[in-house]
Amino acid sequence: MALVGIARLASESPLLEAKRAVQYFEIPSRSILNRTKPNMPFRWTINPYRGCEFGCKYCYARYTHEFMEMEADEFEDKIYAKASAAHLLRQELGRIDRKDGIAIGTATDPYQPAERRYGRTREILEVFARDRGRHLGIISKSDLIVRDIDVMQEIARANVFGIHITITTLDPDLARLLEPRAPRPDLRLEAVRKLAEAGIVVGVNPNPIMPGITDSERSLDRLAKASRDAGAVTFGGGPLFLMPSAQKVFFPFLEREFPHLVERYRELYARSAYLGKDYKGELAARVRKIRDRYGLVSGMADYRPEIWVEEQGELFG
Ligand code: SF4
Repeated sequence: MALVGIARLASESPLLEAKRAVQYFEIPSRSILNRTKPNMPFRWTINPYRGCEFGCKYCYARYTHEFMEMEADEFEDKIYAKASAAHLLRQELGRIDRKDGIAIGTATDPYQPAERRYGRTREILEVFARDRGRHLGIISKSDLIVRDIDVMQEIARANVFGIHITITTLDPDLARLLEPRAPRPDLRLEAVRKLAEAGIVVGVNPNPIMPGITDSERSLDRLAKASRDAGAVTFGGGPLFLMPSAQKVFFPFLEREFPHLVERYRELYARSAYLGKDYKGELAARVRKIRDRYGLVSGMADYRPEIWVEEQGELFG
């Protein structure tokens, strides 16, 4: 079968490097800003890479490699750095409303190991550091994020800017099983601390919350308390979303590591990738109660940066 579109581009992408089982490529992109579906808390997403070396067993973003005619498990072994990311962003930013929220890292971790070498996320942040009046957030589970505190401070002076660090559990052994190549939970908490100390608005997301694995009151409570103690101001999460491409990796993982949960999960996800409203309602109430206990809030950062009202009229009026 002849490959077309993104699958053809992927098959022709030049190999940048191969490390362990991981291969790195560069892939051309037509655009860097992707519009989200309605009802999302942000209007646009930016993913500087395709694929993610952290290899989380529950990762919903594996479907992005299926677009390239690849297997779900190649998502963590074939990493594509988007070419000309900063150049594309400079061109595209002028066409979108400044009030639109932009999230970096919704389908790949922007601070996975590839970022150490290719720096695409930092290049993107440098574009935002020269901008004003945007609403920007980053989602990551990597402590490499603190490398860019200098440029983040610049962004936060004139844009509403916040970071969400994902921590599913404080238990290092469980984290190693669920997120084999991601930094340890204590390293992520330390990143929260450093970001908060640098004056960056930071929160912790325990996403995805997994029934019978990370959803207990005790586990979420410990995580919220540790997050608050590290300087997080937001805390919020939702249940595991398990579409077929993610099930291909997650169910064999459950069979190996949590065989007693296999039947329950098969029932829970038999009809949909989403959990039913009863479970979702109970979980939302539990998370809300815990959040309130520690004085944390939900959602994206919302504040007025140092350069805002004074310059808005002059710059955009
Ligand atoms: S860090 Fe995020 S994008 Fe990367 S594998 Fe884990 S869930 Fe997927």
